[in-house]
Amino acid sequence: MYASLAGRRVVVTGGTKGIGLGIAGVFVSVGAHVLITGRDVEVGTAAAKALTEQGPGTAVFVAADVRDAADHERVATTAVDTLGGIDVLCANAGMFPSAPLAEMTPEQMDDMYAVNVRGTMLAVTACLPALTASGRGRVILTSSITGPITGLPGWAHYGASKAAQLGFMRTAAIELAPAGITVNAVLPGNILTEGLVDLGEEYLATMAASIPARRLGTPADIGWAALFFATDEAAYVTGQALVVDGGQVLPESLEALG
Ligand code: NAP
Repeated sequence: MYASLAGRRVVVTGGTKGIGLGIAGVFVSVGAHVLITGRDVEVGTAAAKALTEQGPGTAVFVAADVRDAADHERVATTAVDTLGGIDVLCANAGMFPSAPLAEMTPEQMDDMYAVNVRGTMLAVTACLPALTASGRGRVILTSSITGPITGLPGWAHYGASKAAQLGFMRTAAIELAPAGITVNAVLPGNILTEGLVDLGEEYLATMAASIPARRLGTPADIGWAALFFATDEAAYVTGQALVVDGGQVLPESLEALG
């Protein structure tokens, strides 16, 4: 049995919807106190209220854009003021608009990196003093199978950003190890979130058929994997990428799917 995570202070960027909300929900379910961020105030406020009602932990919402360094500083300061510190940072906020290469603009690549890569770096650096003070700091990145392992036409810029997160993770894990901080990543497959639903019914049906588990993942599937990295028992696990995909990356061919 793992030691309890009740009372842990957790920041989840992009915790108002989708995978981030699933991660926040899992931490709240074990008694952690969570600060979630996002840009939409109405959605974020409602999400924090629902999480707190779910309990036994609590949730607060702070409106913040991961592209903005000052917002990250405000998030870290608010976490220290309201939660008393930060033990776990889940740098999860990300975006995935498609852009076939023939139409891709440099601005689209810059936007992708500003949110998915620079946003990750800013979250870590802003929370670093509090994570260090924790003595058992945990950084958990939400990367993806897309980029580090698989490719998907239309998402070359996204795949690059998700692979870049893992490059960042490996050196961050080395630099932060002396402070007792681990840095790991979850690599979700196709998870049924608001963002993915926007890609359409046909996309969702095709994806489900290509997964050995024959279903898309749930945000909670990712939350439980993230929770493992946050445990005391995972203190010696750092710089690792955990695929959570129902076996999606495994089949060698269509025949292998049966
Ligand atoms: P989602 O349902 O669209 O939710 C995205 C979350 O991030 C929301 O809370 C959103 O809030 C926030 N966000 C987006 N841009 C932001 C910004 N500039 N500043 C602050 N917050 C921002 O997406 P999701 O599917 O849960 O994806 C979450 C993460 O999982 C991403 O890093 C994504 O790459 C990764 N992922 C997803 C899947 C999947 O199948 N869904 C698979 C692999 C990896 P606001 O819109 O209010 O800002």
